[in-house]
Amino acid sequence: MKQQEPAIRPLLPFARPVARLLSAVFLSTCTILGAPMKETDDHPEKLSKEKVAAADWSERLTPEQYRILREAGTEAPGGQVYQQFKAQASGTYYCAGCGAELFHAEQKFDARCGWPSFWNPSEIDAIKTREDTSLGMVRTEVLCAHCDGHLGHLFKGEGFDTPTDKRYCINGTVLVFVPDDDPKS
Ligand SMILES: [Zn+2]
Repeated sequence: MKQQEPAIRPLLPFARPVARLLSAVFLSTCTILGAPMKETDDHPEKLSKEKVAAADWSERLTPEQYRILREAGTEAPGGQVYQQFKAQASGTYYCAGCGAELFHAEQKFDARCGWPSFWNPSEIDAIKTREDTSLGMVRTEVLCAHCDGHLGHLFKGEGFDTPTDKRYCINGTVLVFVPDDDPKS
């Protein structure tokens, strides 16, 4: 009869549930917390084209912002950024990379997709688009026109009740929100 190893055997029944629990805690923490969207009363400085060209993005951005803006990454949907976005009232959204104005709160809507959504940029030349064939799909990538940072994707014709029937699906991690001044003050 084959001998069992008594020191390891009692631990084995616990190994899988513990690993499962740890990975569940890790994943849910990442999804719930995410990386917050920067909110500030100060309008961010818009970098000159020369400063954009010379920028050390790894120095200027958080690792998550770098992954999204410079490596075309995507934030986890439905996380802290999305909750912030839903709670934000009137204001303006700027690029976290270069400080360019990108979107206004008047153009946002809740697409219930887990990512901040807008039906138009604040100015049409604030963003630029290009075809993205990654992940075996043909999508329209949305980039900041000033620093070429990846912002998200553009979807059209989804039937949302918005003026353009477009959805600019944007990673909130790479936006900076500046609320409008209180009109009463
Ligand atoms: Zn930018």
